[in-house]
Amino acid sequence: MLDPSPLVSARSSRPEDRPHAVVIGSGFGGLAAAVRLGARGYRVTVLEKLDAPGGRAYVHRQDGFTFDAGPTIVTAPFLFEELWRLCGRRLADDVTLQPVSPFYRIRFDDGAEFDCLGDADAMRAQIARFAPGDVAGYERFMKASEAIFKVGFEELGDVSFESWTQMARIAPAMVRLKSYQSVYDFVASYIRDERLRVVLSFHPLLIGGNPFKTTSIYCLIAFLERRWGVHFALGGTGKLVDGLVSLIEGQGGSLRCHAEVSEILTRQGVAAGVRLASGEMLPADIVVSNADPAWTYGKLLPGITRKRWTDRRIDRARYSMSLFVWYFGTRKRYDDVAHHTILLGPRYRGLLDDIFERKILADDFSLYLHRPTATDPSLAPDGCDAFYVLSPVPHLDSGIDWTREAEPYRQRIERKLSETVLPNLGREIVTSRLLTPQDFRDRLLSVRGAAFGLEPVLTQSAWFRPHNRSEEVERLYLVGAGTHPGAGLPGVLSSARVLDDIVPDAQSLERIA
Ligand SMILES: Cc1cc2nc3c(=O)[nH]c(=O)nc-3n(C[C@H](O)[C@H](O)[C@H](O)COP(=O)(O)OP(=O)(O)OC[C@H]3O[C@@H](n4cnc5c(N)ncnc54)[C@H](O)[C@@H]3O)c2cc1C
Repeated sequence: MLDPSPLVSARSSRPEDRPHAVVIGSGFGGLAAAVRLGARGYRVTVLEKLDAPGGRAYVHRQDGFTFDAGPTIVTAPFLFEELWRLCGRRLADDVTLQPVSPFYRIRFDDGAEFDCLGDADAMRAQIARFAPGDVAGYERFMKASEAIFKVGFEELGDVSFESWTQMARIAPAMVRLKSYQSVYDFVASYIRDERLRVVLSFHPLLIGGNPFKTTSIYCLIAFLERRWGVHFALGGTGKLVDGLVSLIEGQGGSLRCHAEVSEILTRQGVAAGVRLASGEMLPADIVVSNADPAWTYGKLLPGITRKRWTDRRIDRARYSMSLFVWYFGTRKRYDDVAHHTILLGPRYRGLLDDIFERKILADDFSLYLHRPTATDPSLAPDGCDAFYVLSPVPHLDSGIDWTREAEPYRQRIERKLSETVLPNLGREIVTSRLLTPQDFRDRLLSVRGAAFGLEPVLTQSAWFRPHNRSEEVERLYLVGAGTHPGAGLPGVLSSARVLDDIVPDAQSLERIA
């Protein structure tokens, strides 16, 4: 803790005298928060533990291939456009967001394929191909998805949910929209065909939730995708990261890499700066943490007695699944493979139980295969393809030793891909790297190696999730996947948007001398 000293009021137009905001972490939530604070008059410093920004959206470059480590599906472009607008710039001048079609190709274990499409008529035809009797139910489901979007995204996405009364106010709408149901149960109330139920309910997996447990509020994604499409940033998601860093620098802010924060410093219960692992101290007028909230509260505030986010509560929380990701490049192109393919295994509910409840590594798996070179060949050398394949796996409570299991697991995935959509894969691989749950823990400091922070169940959503304004320390704010509203690019960009409501303008801030 810092020595107590008086608060003074300071208003100055010199850049170095502007109130200083320190942002811990350069994930999309942290970068978006930095842009918003910069636009509101703060001098911003973003501190990143790794050697480059992006967090889960880190970019690996090897052997002529470019691999986005994480997010690639961009579904709410307007949230990025807004950040560029705040800086008087246009997103389209810096990054091209290319619509992707099909949004996803879903391949069932028997080889049948379903293309998720943006065009309503084409989508109806896909539904009719599988189960003509479900077309009417599908129409009603899409209407329901729109209604949920209007409340869940437009009205509640950037509400701070700091008080119980905010929660009470929305309770009737949530009951009306059946938010108490799981995504799967909600879909099943409209659709009879089991395969179509999978097609319309898998989305929570993209943000770390079990479709059988995640609140049906997440059914809004179907409408979000229909209305704005699914996009890919040409050059890779890293272009969006670079673009945001250039916005921050254009505002006079800065990004420091290799700068792990080991402690948030406080003075009389008010955040007053940070200490880096190197020992260096940086004073700040406000601190925003984009680190995992369980890590922020559990590790970065050693001198504080926590009222809400106690060690016991952190320990008892439910964490999202983790991921096993294999990035690889092939010497040839697999032109028949879509940009986004979901390869389903023989089981759905049983596999999800293994991952989320039993926390065991099953013999079967469902995979998401990303082939960015389908849209942007520049991400691989001429005539080659870049891929990543992602397998949802239990977080580290499983006890799995990934230093031993990773390679055998990768080989099983390679066999599965070779037997299905990438024939003779073993012969074609020219570069390869892995990301395991242990990397989420050790590299990204995610508690239990969870890939998406706290699991998005109703009892850990909105008011129940770590608030964007810390309940423990004044002038400490939280953004990112583990906070409200949750994981995924739209979620973490919205968490930064909440700051506009709860952080005072730089000009009106009482400064700590
Ligand atoms: C493989 C994968 C694929 C995904 N695909 C999609 C997708 O297609 N579309 C989508 O919308 N979402 C996707 N997601 C989810 C989405 O990527 C994440 O929810 C989102 O990027 C998380 O952003 P964040 O703001 O929480 O920060 P994070 O990305 O978690 O970054 C936090 C940063 O903080 C840094 N940090 C942590 N502690 C400290 C410290 N003490 N000091 C300094 N720095 C620190 C970390 O190094 C990291 O850089 C995917 C996630 C994964 C893992």
